[in-house]
Amino acid sequence: MFRERKSYWKSVLKSQEKIEEYAVEVRHTDRRIGAFLEFDPQHIPLKAAEGSPLAGLPIAVKDNIAVEGFGLSCGSKMLSNVRSPYTATAVYKLQEAGMGIVGKTNLDEFGMGSSTDNSALQRTHNPWDTSRVAGGSSGGSAAAVAAGLVPAALGSDTGGSIRQPASFCGIYGLKPTYGSVSRFGLVAYASSLEGIGVVSDSLSLTRSIFNTMRAEDQHDQTTGLAQVPEKPVKSIGVLVKTHIEGLSPALQRAYFTSIDEFKRLGYSIQEVQLPTLDYVIPAYYTIASAEASANLARYAGIRYGHQNSLAEDPQELMESSRDEGFGPEVKLRILLGTYVLRSGFQEQYYIRAQKIRTALRRDFDAIFRSVDLLLSPTFPVQAFSHDSNELDQFQQKLADRFTATANLAGIPALAFPVAIEDGLPAGMQLMAPMHAEEMLFTTAETYQQAFQPVLPEIAQQTTSTQQGVDHE
Ligand code: GLN
Repeated sequence: MFRERKSYWKSVLKSQEKIEEYAVEVRHTDRRIGAFLEFDPQHIPLKAAEGSPLAGLPIAVKDNIAVEGFGLSCGSKMLSNVRSPYTATAVYKLQEAGMGIVGKTNLDEFGMGSSTDNSALQRTHNPWDTSRVAGGSSGGSAAAVAAGLVPAALGSDTGGSIRQPASFCGIYGLKPTYGSVSRFGLVAYASSLEGIGVVSDSLSLTRSIFNTMRAEDQHDQTTGLAQVPEKPVKSIGVLVKTHIEGLSPALQRAYFTSIDEFKRLGYSIQEVQLPTLDYVIPAYYTIASAEASANLARYAGIRYGHQNSLAEDPQELMESSRDEGFGPEVKLRILLGTYVLRSGFQEQYYIRAQKIRTALRRDFDAIFRSVDLLLSPTFPVQAFSHDSNELDQFQQKLADRFTATANLAGIPALAFPVAIEDGLPAGMQLMAPMHAEEMLFTTAETYQQAFQPVLPEIAQQTTSTQQGVDHE
């Protein structure tokens, strides 16, 4: 069985001495990884919680999710001096269950990107190969888990930001059903698409964390829970060949291997069409940028955020504060969003994108009438290198087509590791009808008979020097 190192994780926050040992260890390893923007396991005392499977466990939180007393930089110079005065509902639920927040992780600025290289504050490296990216935008969270620094971390997923770094790092990544986990305390990028989710090397932990966070919340009017009848998963849909053109050879191998394994495990495999797939990227980037331009309008250097101290009038203050505070990718998206929303042109872009979104939802309804789950790649390639022309910003956007589908449809999706190819992890994702997360967990659990997640050398080094590692 895969070592969940459960008892080790249960012990690290137990005594002052253990906490200090743990902190030394994490700081040492993270010098090579750069996962944490802030690490302080003593900062927030554990709440006593009896009986919860999560009690006493450490967890890291992406730095666009509020935890009182920690920073909330969103990877941006705009907010690099902010201390959060409140805690996100999802985090609060975990604290109530006894989890200890140990730090905040790096991300692409405001969640915009697929590499974490768009962070204005720090660079994060993939623990499997530090010349490569950990993925993004929740790259710090995924890297912290893969480097063995925490058993789980929270991320956010607007168009793939949990699942893509999870796949790049060889771990699990859950993007829950839209509205099942409160967004209160998640700094908004594209409100109709995003949500808080989990990355972890343990499936059971992913499930417990999700079930603990999942709740209606009066602070987020879009939250809502629905009971779906327990149904055994029998059939899995796979995309017709034309939909998966452009996968790297390693990813192709991994994809077909995973299909074969599912067959061998007794699932019936059925090819399905997703006719709107080709329109997912234009629709996603139109809607995401439109919402970003509105959500980010509040960072004007007036109420909070970076403020240019030399400006002489309000207009100059706003312009120069925004110019200095935002990085190039954020500026690009604000401009793009403003462009698609300008008066007289909404019909051409924004409304059209919403129509595609509706069509995509219908496609999914049809798919889930014929199969229980849908299997697809998360990203067409494995972790790419920093600073290379391997995948430029535009190609990175095109590569979001498999993940952004679930965000446009609001459905849950779970990324899971299926192979190590060319020395790097390869991950796939399973998508389910709304609120059917449990079907994802049970199917991924069965898949563990075919492939168990493994952590890279760097994590093994970390844990081997730690005491009390449980080899269950
Ligand atoms: N790569 C996508 C983007 O840049 C997804 C980001 C996310 O999910 N936050 O928008």
